[in-house]
Amino acid sequence: MDEAMDFFGVVKRQICNCSLGLNLSPDVEGILKMPMRELHMSIPVRMDDGSIRTFQGFRVQYNNARGPTKGGIRFHPDETINTIRGLAAIMTWKCALHDLPLGGAKGGVICNPKEFSEAELERLSRAYMQSICRFIGPDRDIPAPDVYTNPTVMAWMMDEYANVTGNTAFGVITGKPVSLGGSEGRHDATARGGWMAIREAAADLEMDLAGATVAVQGFGNAGYHAAFLGTAHYGAKIVAVSDSRGAISRPDGLDPEAVLAHKNETGSVIRFEGAETISNEELLELDVDILIPAALENAITMQNADRIRARIVAELANGPTTTEADEILYDHQIHIIPDFLCNGGGVIVSYFEMVQNFTMDHWPEAEVYRRLDEKITTAYRAVKDFSRTYAVPMRQAAYTIAVERVVKAMEYRGCV
Ligand code: GLU
Repeated sequence: MDEAMDFFGVVKRQICNCSLGLNLSPDVEGILKMPMRELHMSIPVRMDDGSIRTFQGFRVQYNNARGPTKGGIRFHPDETINTIRGLAAIMTWKCALHDLPLGGAKGGVICNPKEFSEAELERLSRAYMQSICRFIGPDRDIPAPDVYTNPTVMAWMMDEYANVTGNTAFGVITGKPVSLGGSEGRHDATARGGWMAIREAAADLEMDLAGATVAVQGFGNAGYHAAFLGTAHYGAKIVAVSDSRGAISRPDGLDPEAVLAHKNETGSVIRFEGAETISNEELLELDVDILIPAALENAITMQNADRIRARIVAELANGPTTTEADEILYDHQIHIIPDFLCNGGGVIVSYFEMVQNFTMDHWPEAEVYRRLDEKITTAYRAVKDFSRTYAVPMRQAAYTIAVERVVKAMEYRGCV
């Protein structure tokens, strides 16, 4: 299978890469390369015109050695079980690297939510929850938002879980609206955590973030907030952004809020006044200080890796760089902040949301930010120190630390 098509294959190769240093037995490696459990379901949904469409959905619970499995739900037309498996594995390493008492999972439905009315989206969200609710729960598996799902979808799903089980279990799902058991700071946590990691990387490279040029690929939840926080909190200059329809660039800097208003009005960032329209490929190859891939997997491949000119690549998306591309970036001495280190802010604040739900508490925003910073900074320094000490790429360092923690838990539990 083509590497770009076999995302799970890429993730499995990463496990092999770090297993040498850890001296993993083939038996243990075998367990780590297989999902613990998978649900495949057909989800019939009544559409507004009275017809019934049946969608295919998945939930992969990858590894629960360190705790209940955790990970988002994606609604995307190009979804595949292969991608979900890879993403569920990455969630396992992400939770371990950030030292959360959680395992990894991911879910998805093959659909294009942009074609749905609000009522259709609600019916699909509730139907998906109905098909997984017997297999999840606050101490089993806890979903969250991901590509094309949001707090409203989480609220419908939480309500559906309550309808079916009879329990108003806030902790069954995270990324909920703040007035329904959600946490302060969850909505932009992925981007905020990403910038905390970038701040650490910039300090390492002695790069001044004020005035640093940044290109952001993707303008969804992660991409928009990355652009916004970059300008508002760090004084960086966002010179290009993109979405699935194309990219725009403006060397003097873009105002992310104005671009968002334009996108909300027209459906896309393209044709934003005063900016030049470029392609998504051109955006990735811009001569910038920081490149933030914040869209989907496989953005940086063997085809374009040679032409990436950024000094820092901060992977806010999951799996944006293929293995071959990774080697090229490493050879070019580009500082990569690997995905599950860089984008851990989302699940970290999800975990804080669970803690608040379990204790019936509500933390102020400043408390959430303080704890998030502590988590991200600790993980960043651990990965960087490991990478320097053993002269291995940042990604391999992150994998090795995370996989070792998962294996330790498996040993203590007597699984291996
Ligand atoms: N979907 C996010 C991720 O990929 C967050 C997951 C969560 O909060 O459980 O990390």
